[in-house]
Amino acid sequence: MPSWKIHLIFDLIFVAVFLGLIFSLGLINNLITIFFLVLLNLTAALFPDIDTPKSRIRAYVSLILASAVTGFLAVNFSVDSVISGVIGFALIYLAIRFFPTEHRGATHTLWFSFIFSFALTFVFWLIFRFPGFEFCLYYLIILWGYLSHIILDKIT
Ligand SMILES: [Zn+2]
Repeated sequence: MPSWKIHLIFDLIFVAVFLGLIFSLGLINNLITIFFLVLLNLTAALFPDIDTPKSRIRAYVSLILASAVTGFLAVNFSVDSVISGVIGFALIYLAIRFFPTEHRGATHTLWFSFIFSFALTFVFWLIFRFPGFEFCLYYLIILWGYLSHIILDKIT
């Protein structure tokens, strides 16, 4: 199984192709948007290994989800003691981090890559409400990063 670093390095080839297209076709001129799209692409390239409890992406996503859930519970159910907040956070974190999953299972399939890319694009669309053209662009760039992961796993 290639490490997350190898996946990022391999994905840089995909990023280079993407940037080449963007600049030669003049699709986007805004550097901040391009930077953000590259970041999404790199994240997607690491995402499939979320099915491995030891993976770095799993650690990060567990941390983000546990913080979000704890924050949500604390605000909505007025948890006032710090101790119960900390214990709740730790339990949620451990549950997500070590939930048993099969490596190279669902997240390493093509159909999942299409659904994941669409779902993530949709979340950003809910926030930014960008036009259809940008929707396609976000979708394709996330999918592009995701495919780089699946392809590298297939050939190694
Ligand atoms: Zn993988």
